[in-house]
Amino acid sequence: MPPEPPHLPHLSRPPVTATDYDLLHMRRALDLAARAGAMGEIPVGAVVYETASGRTLGEGHNLRHINKDPAAHAELIAIRAAAAAVGDWRLNHCTLVVTLEPCPMCAGLIVNARLGRVVFGCPDPKAGACGSLMRLTEDPRLNHRVTPVAGVLGDQCAMLLRNFFKSRRLESRGGGAGAVDA
Ligand code: ZN
Repeated sequence: MPPEPPHLPHLSRPPVTATDYDLLHMRRALDLAARAGAMGEIPVGAVVYETASGRTLGEGHNLRHINKDPAAHAELIAIRAAAAAVGDWRLNHCTLVVTLEPCPMCAGLIVNARLGRVVFGCPDPKAGACGSLMRLTEDPRLNHRVTPVAGVLGDQCAMLLRNFFKSRRLESRGGGAGAVDA
């Protein structure tokens, strides 16, 4: 294999489009995200489904505060549940659907779990590792690559986050609610 160039030709790949299953599961991920928001967690939801059949294998939402666990992101919970359901850590035949662009930790997990497809809703300009800050899942130096499908029901996913932070700011108005650590 020839050595990879230092500047990665990320954008030369053809566009990948969402399927009906992606939309279906994104709606479920939105429900999960809303549930997280109602619990005071940042509203992010995720589903892992079997790509061919559409069968749900795992799902989850953000539980960072409640579990007091910095790793309790929606994707991680859904991926672990799916691996347990499948009985294998390899999820090549699966699709991860998540409302917010995965962070570097979750993008690393996507690579480690060998996920076949990744679909996300809205971008995360502060922490996104699937296009915003980096393209971790498409790095040719890693041993597994997946090109995410971005922007699926993105407006609804972003709206949920915006409303959550807005109401949180209102609750703590005057309290100097500064940078929101999403
Ligand atoms: Zn994450």
